Amino acid sequence: MPDVEISLNASISDDAADPAARAGGHQPALTGCPWHDVNEMLQAAGLRPTRQRMALGWLLFGKGARHLTAEMLYEEATLAKVPVSLATVYNTLNQLTDAGLLRQVSVDGTKTYFDTNVTTHHHFYLENSHELVDIPDPHLVLHKMPDVPEGYEIARVDMVVRLRKKR
Ligand SMILES: [Zn+2]
Repeated sequence: MPDVEISLNASISDDAADPAARAGGHQPALTGCPWHDVNEMLQAAGLRPTRQRMALGWLLFGKGARHLTAEMLYEEATLAKVPVSLATVYNTLNQLTDAGLLRQVSVDGTKTYFDTNVTTHHHFYLENSHELVDIPDPHLVLHKMPDVPEGYEIARVDMVVRLRKKR
């Protein structure tokens, strides 16, 4: 058994409007052409398909489910010769998250990953390689949910199970 430390990050919100749930209702049919799909996705989410959003969306969504930090995406964009600043990458990632096309997963409070898979799932965090990996079981549940303050409800529970190599 690896050493495991579980950190819980339950977001409590006063309105249950989960952006992921909102976007899920009118997800366009995907054609398999990344460029076309990204265009459709942006439009359906109410975002204008600017050149930069299209290029970043193509890098993000063109390769299946991924977990990327803003720095990682910036590096990919630079390698792909997409003229974009780190600030624009940050802004775009936040806009896509607000639109429900990405899910934010925070690790350590300093590292934020953006997940292209917005369905309910939890993560392993590999401390040695700083990698985020999906836990295949989507039905993983807490044994006992905490009591929440009056007037609030649990919007979502994100579980990050931290793994490190055995010494
Ligand atoms: Zn994930």
